[in-house]
Amino acid sequence: MSRTRDNIDDYRRLCIDCGECRDVCPSYRLGGCDPLAVMKGDNSRVFGCIGCGNCSRACPETDPKIVMLAAYSIMLDRPVSQAFLDTGLSRYVSEEAPGLGLEPIWEGDDVYVMPGCVAKCEVPYVVYAASSALKGMGVRASELPEFTCCMYPIQFGGMDDDEREGYIGRMGETAGNRPLVTLCGGCSEIMNRHGTECQHLIPFLHARMDLLPRISGTLKVSVEPGCAAIVYRDMMTEIVERLGCEPVGNEPGCCGKNVRDISTSLMRERQEAASEADVIVVGCPMCQAKYDAFPGGKPVMYLAELVAAAYGDRASLECHRIPVPDL
Ligand code: SF4
Ligand code: SF4
Repeated sequence: MSRTRDNIDDYRRLCIDCGECRDVCPSYRLGGCDPLAVMKGDNSRVFGCIGCGNCSRACPETDPKIVMLAAYSIMLDRPVSQAFLDTGLSRYVSEEAPGLGLEPIWEGDDVYVMPGCVAKCEVPYVVYAASSALKGMGVRASELPEFTCCMYPIQFGGMDDDEREGYIGRMGETAGNRPLVTLCGGCSEIMNRHGTECQHLIPFLHARMDLLPRISGTLKVSVEPGCAAIVYRDMMTEIVERLGCEPVGNEPGCCGKNVRDISTSLMRERQEAASEADVIVVGCPMCQAKYDAFPGGKPVMYLAELVAAAYGDRASLECHRIPVPDL
């Protein structure tokens, strides 16, 4: 029995039944997960959880998202995947992945970038754009050697926390005292929680805003950090403004990931929220993949692509399904 599974009862015991988690849960609103029921031990609707973390941000007493992820993993009861055993990543690189031919431009190893499974396997042009943006800023960066999945718990029900922490810790050891930057908020959330210090790209860029160029013209931008990076919303808005864009002031939300019966409704809400924007700028590779695959959706760019484009590199934008307007 893993340590997380033992501990979830401790998190559950702290629940005071206030219902705040339900009130803020986008999945519950759409008939999906019932966080309060899961906190009470009924896991039957946990597959509707999109992992957005709203429940934990609202909860006055405990950390329901930890319980949701652990309960999801228990219900899924899936052995560690062959893809992970073969590659260290949660999935194989898709042969059709857009941007697979774009070779990232790594210039040195002052900073390590941990791309994460979705960026590496599904939208590799995001990794290219990150390398190009950092190169433009004069940051000597390269990909973290032999990085693995961040060990987001859902798909690792067949592995206990100590084993997961071993993989995370090895990435921290490889980085040594170099800054470690993730492209996905979920990766930085999990890795920091398990003792490996790293930073999402948004705060990394925000701390170096004076290096950023300006885009000519005015692009109206919907700022969508992604749910795991939502705490960086203000930083991301300032970065976008610094680049010369005009945020449209939308309330950000979750793309819905791949949760059946929920994701399409949530994506429609996101598209509505972005209706005044020329382009949606996201801080999450999963959001990038989801928005760019939504039929009739707004053009979308991962934040590093906006920075790379400001330096004149639009190569990653050519990989999108939904054409991005000229900058
Ligand atoms: S918000 Fe927290 S304390 Fe309140 S019902 Fe939900 S889990 Fe329990
Ligand atoms: S993580 Fe999000 S979807 Fe899951 S229970 Fe919490 S609020 Fe609901």
